[in-house]
Amino acid sequence: MNTKIIKIHDNDQDVFIEAGKIIRSGGLVAFPTETVYGLGANALDSEAVAGIFRAKGRPQDNPLISHIADFQEIYSLCREVPPEAELLAENFWPGPLTMVLKKSDAIPMSVSAGLDTAGIRLPSHPAARALIRAAGVPIAAPSANTSGKPSPTTAAHVLADMDGKIDMILDGGACSVGLESTVVSLCGERPRLLRPGGITLEQLESVLGKVDVDRAIREQISTNEKVSAPGMKYRHYAPRAPVTIISGTPEHTAGYIRTHISPSTGVLCFDEYVSLFESAGHVRGYGSVYDISAQARQIFDALRGFDSSSVTEILAQCPSDIGLGLAVANRLKKAAGFNIIEI
Ligand code: AMP
Ligand code: MG
Repeated sequence: MNTKIIKIHDNDQDVFIEAGKIIRSGGLVAFPTETVYGLGANALDSEAVAGIFRAKGRPQDNPLISHIADFQEIYSLCREVPPEAELLAENFWPGPLTMVLKKSDAIPMSVSAGLDTAGIRLPSHPAARALIRAAGVPIAAPSANTSGKPSPTTAAHVLADMDGKIDMILDGGACSVGLESTVVSLCGERPRLLRPGGITLEQLESVLGKVDVDRAIREQISTNEKVSAPGMKYRHYAPRAPVTIISGTPEHTAGYIRTHISPSTGVLCFDEYVSLFESAGHVRGYGSVYDISAQARQIFDALRGFDSSSVTEILAQCPSDIGLGLAVANRLKKAAGFNIIEI
């Protein structure tokens, strides 16, 4: 298959009409969102959705998020929409938040991976919304990467993984958040954070009160254990060389890494410390220690960058779990398979 790449501009209606037609006729289109690039198919069409799993090599038990362009669509996709969902939508939609709700029969089991629930998101990126509107159907879209690799935050990342496997890539430049959406379940007694993302735990709690935090966010879950968000149990976001997180204050971790590097070591660090690691094989800053938004935007590109070097191990600094730091740290810990040295 020849993958068509099109640069988009906000008022490029013809492009969205063409891409929408591809979605409606069962094809696959990668598109930019504020979080990461999504790999979209018609969420109401099981066969189209099967194509997503094939292109990504995604495990069958990992459900997909359905993307909508108008809040009202939630009522046909979900059996129950509790007041908390409306409250969250008022505060955080459109935006980087996915709600897990009891699904209606409109969503096929292939989308929910056999679960009785559905992840729903209303993205804020104008191109994502224009595509959903042009398609006229909700769009099921996981991140547009090969399963296990870091999520794509540019069209070039998507192309590297998906060339020849999908119909079209809409190139809308780099993603503004850079991490996947926050996933919160509203199906239990209390709201439960299943995946941290662009909307922080603190923001959720300011609207909902106490939110439980799923154990899989901070700890390794074994592959045969039952987890609330199936995606959380897989090794993820991983470059080829194994990653080790050095945990402690930035000054201490920088000092530790400096004494443990060789030319075959890669270092993933805060910008302030890049110059300390000249003897390492590949050094990549992923934002200032004081700028977690910059870290979120750059972490996946930084992780991908190590694959074009020949380093055999990667030592990484990691932010603390406060605010957006919880999401950045979660992605890094998953990339490291929760291999963490506390110093
Ligand atoms: P991705 O779009 O690649 O970031 O993956 C979607 C994430 O949302 C996965 O980690 C899923 O586990 C999670 N997710 C989607 N739908 C559900 C659902 N019904 N219940 C729990 N988690 C979900
Ligand atoms: Mg993903």
